Amino acid sequence: MDASTYTLDFWRSKASGLKFRTQHFIDGAYVASADGRTYPTINPATGATIAEVARGGAAEIDRAVAVARKAYRSGAWSRMDPRARMAVLEKFSTLIEAHAEEFAVLDSLDMGKPVMDMMNIDIPGSVTSLKFFAETIDKIEGAVTATAANALHYILRQPLGVVGLIVPWNYPLMMAAWKLGPALATGNSVVLKPAEQSPLSANLLAELFIEAGGPAGVFNVVHGLGEEAGKALALHNDVDKIGFTGSTEVGKLLMIYAGQSNMKRVSTECGGKTPQIVLGDYDDLDTAVTYAVNGIYGNQGEVCNAGSRILVEKRIHDDFVERFTARTRENFVLGDPLDPATTIGPLVTASHQQRVLSYIDIGRKEGAALRFGGGTLASSPKGAFVEPTLFTGVDNGMRIAREEIFGPVAAIIPVEGIDDAIEIANDSIYGLAASVWTRDISKAHRFARDIEAGVVWVNCFDHGDMTSIWGGYKQTGNGRDKCLEALTQYTQTKSVWVNLD
Ligand code: NAD
Repeated sequence: MDASTYTLDFWRSKASGLKFRTQHFIDGAYVASADGRTYPTINPATGATIAEVARGGAAEIDRAVAVARKAYRSGAWSRMDPRARMAVLEKFSTLIEAHAEEFAVLDSLDMGKPVMDMMNIDIPGSVTSLKFFAETIDKIEGAVTATAANALHYILRQPLGVVGLIVPWNYPLMMAAWKLGPALATGNSVVLKPAEQSPLSANLLAELFIEAGGPAGVFNVVHGLGEEAGKALALHNDVDKIGFTGSTEVGKLLMIYAGQSNMKRVSTECGGKTPQIVLGDYDDLDTAVTYAVNGIYGNQGEVCNAGSRILVEKRIHDDFVERFTARTRENFVLGDPLDPATTIGPLVTASHQQRVLSYIDIGRKEGAALRFGGGTLASSPKGAFVEPTLFTGVDNGMRIAREEIFGPVAAIIPVEGIDDAIEIANDSIYGLAASVWTRDISKAHRFARDIEAGVVWVNCFDHGDMTSIWGGYKQTGNGRDKCLEALTQYTQTKSVWVNLD
């Protein structure tokens, strides 16, 4: 559809015609919680309740895991002919594309993301993920090893069985798709626990899997709170793995739950405090500035790899700050996420807004200079808005430089040069991503070698495709999304020794 079709009226009318699927999706059908409990999901742009959503707990998790196990053992999906399984996942991705507008409005209403970001980033990212992993299905190989003449030894790569996927609210559809791709492609059955703040798109996803030809019971959804439904899933003795994206704090809990239950595998994609380093030799400061503002304020700063620490070489510092301020004013329009002109929506909830505002207060008290922002949106007092905010004069020891704020708050830290920058960048518990802007090839490669991060960008930010790995060092966790490596995390190997005598 022509981009000019996407007016505010268009999206409002889509939103008013939406059907909300608010129950659990188990064995291909909608079910309420056994005790009938629900919780409200709130539109953060207005503070209004969108819908009451089923609030699951141990009973619903038990039911979904049993169904998933039965589906797995039946072989209907796990042993489906590889090219038939591929065709289902390809059709699944095509159906997501066909329902792009509905997905866009659902996630935008639920968590405040500008609707056009859904169309331009989240939907293509989700579709591509499913297509990419679908294409791998008949390319996953085991091995035959060299043995003595009287034996045949081969290694099978097999699915794990039942996988629990626990995902966050910042990219509700895309984080689910990133994990569903490898989990389903390798033949597992899945129980998805969406974030309680953004439950609305998950059921449509599960419905489309069935429409694409996926067997019932292979992809189930249980809604509810983290400490109820999420915890029950992570403690379940018949779940073989948890694929998790979320905070470092919860990632650590999941590892404990695994130890307290059946030693299930846990892969974790957690927090970040990404450094963006800009060196004085870079000859196109405007481009670096554009990437830097987008790197921190895109998606309201609610991004695991938000470039929240900007390390700028002292000799260009003042010029950089001036251009950064101007570019933020040009690029970021705070407002109704359904308005195509909006580039920064509300934060996910009023309580998260208060948390981010409290960090702005902490930054002031720590002695950093508030250069712009720091406020809310006066015209929308019930919305959870926070203005794009910049602190300068930040020291890496300050809390605003150490803790993940997960909002539109940038901290500029002046640095002497590349060595100083690497040392400061690495002084963090997190290690998801990092970028450097320089024309000096030695500095660029030294940075790439020495930076403690799983994703490195040189003279860009947030570039990549499905072949680039997504995952971190240190307390960002042990998981790898996208890329072929993600597949192996949803499989296990089996050694078969055949005596030929
Ligand atoms: P969160 O950890 O609070 O919640 C994530 C999920 O875990 C939700 O579904 C939640 O219900 C569930 N959960 C919460 N407590 C639980 C418990 N005790 N047991 C089981 N499940 C539980 O995170 P969030 O606020 O939804 O998301 C923001 C975080 O996600 C940030 O830290 C961000 O950096 C991280 N994130 C990381 C990546 C990455 O690829 N590394 C990508 C996106 C987001």
